[in-house]
Amino acid sequence: MRLILLGPPGVGKGTQAQILMEEVGAIQLSTGDLLRSVARESTAIGREVKRHLDAGELIPDDIILEMIHEELMKLGETSLIFDGFPRTVPQAEGLDHLLEEMSLCLDHVIELTIEPGEVVKRLSSRRSCPECGAVYNLVTAPPVEDNVCDSCGHAGLIQRDDDKPEVIERRLEIYHRQTAPVAEHYRETGLLRVVDGAGSLEEVSDRIRRSIKLMAD
Ligand code: AMP
Repeated sequence: MRLILLGPPGVGKGTQAQILMEEVGAIQLSTGDLLRSVARESTAIGREVKRHLDAGELIPDDIILEMIHEELMKLGETSLIFDGFPRTVPQAEGLDHLLEEMSLCLDHVIELTIEPGEVVKRLSSRRSCPECGAVYNLVTAPPVEDNVCDSCGHAGLIQRDDDKPEVIERRLEIYHRQTAPVAEHYRETGLLRVVDGAGSLEEVSDRIRRSIKLMAD
């Protein structure tokens, strides 16, 4: 199964991808995670990617498509949940092309929606563990012990540079200009399902399950 999760930054794509991947036995392919690991390398490309990430800007389509191509070659028939990709119409078209070349198909595209004010609230309270990458929300999903990672015990959770208020606004503007049209691309192919991303993690994951028929209506 190959499934795309679309939606604005902070809507919960990463968290829902993790819930779903355990259930359907898929791997989460997050371009944001791949890029953050490239940005930690002290290479020219690492520095270029870091500059874009810190500014909340999209990484050029050719770099992203090359990265996805490599991952698809490695993963072959493995079931996948794309998280944070495609983010532009050329990326969506590039993915169509890659999948066709590899005789693979897309099964579902889910767009999670949310009020803009809620996005800002969620992003500003998001913290992550610099050691293992576990993600928390200080309001809705805090760690058991204040500022300590539940998964690996590291003390000192951090706020991503691109979750700071001045960058959030820029990311949302880019989302509306460049990523929102991706949903239209998939509406035209008949694959798009729009799911309300408001409410608790369980409420949203139940809506997703129903939309892809993992659960009865
Ligand atoms: P995310 O973790 O999905 O919120 O992504 C964090 C940042 O990584 C974004 O703000 C972009 O700078 C970059 N990024 C992630 N995925 C893509 C993509 N598909 N195309 C371009 N840039 C991306």
